[in-house]
Amino acid sequence: MRKKITIAIDGYSSTGKSTIAKELANKLGYVYVDTGAMYRMVSLFAMRNNFINTHGFFREKLIDALEAIELNFVFCEEAGFAEAYLNGICVENEIRTLEVSNYVSKVAAVPEVRKKLVSIQKELGKNKGVVMDGRDIGTVVFPDAELKLFMTASADKRAQRRFDELTGKGEAVRYEDILENVVKRDYEDSNRKDSPLVKAPDAIEIDNSDLTKETQFSLIFDLVVNKL
Ligand code: C5P
Repeated sequence: MRKKITIAIDGYSSTGKSTIAKELANKLGYVYVDTGAMYRMVSLFAMRNNFINTHGFFREKLIDALEAIELNFVFCEEAGFAEAYLNGICVENEIRTLEVSNYVSKVAAVPEVRKKLVSIQKELGKNKGVVMDGRDIGTVVFPDAELKLFMTASADKRAQRRFDELTGKGEAVRYEDILENVVKRDYEDSNRKDSPLVKAPDAIEIDNSDLTKETQFSLIFDLVVNKL
């Protein structure tokens, strides 16, 4: 049997991390963990309880309620991947809205939130054979991952991709708002105190602004094969 490795994929928002991570996991028979979905679920929970809204962010209330949050991923045959469940209910669509995207970086900057999620992530990946995507996977969650990728692309290309995705699902959004969100999240994620988004020194940077999905996949799959 081939040895199992840990693949850490970090990078900026909407760089296609989850698409490539899902493809790799399917091809290798690995577990895929979307850590962004976990931060999005905590944000949705905070929004629903009015811990974060247009009046502000009441972080102490969220911290006090953290124990009441249960996060799971349940494989969905139809979707072909594991969907996000918050306290037993599927929230896969609800966590992808622009409203959640606008709050998530504030929620993700709270050290208590990160501590809870990082410990779940370490547990999910402890047996290797995992592809995990996020912002701090190669630096904090799995600093010993055998393969680390750092994905980038121009802000315009990323905003256009996210715009196409959301409008494709019927969400009424403006391109300018998406671009603003992408740029703002890059800034907030890269400048927070706890586990900021940085490229691990041993990560391989991939700028996919001008790569087709097929070219990107074969390039990355070759990197994986080299590690097996
Ligand atoms: O990957 P996605 O865009 O869904 O992530 C949403 C947000 O969750 C990011 O903008 C970031 O604020 C946060 N995040 C994080 N650490 C991770 C994954 C996501 O801080 N490992």
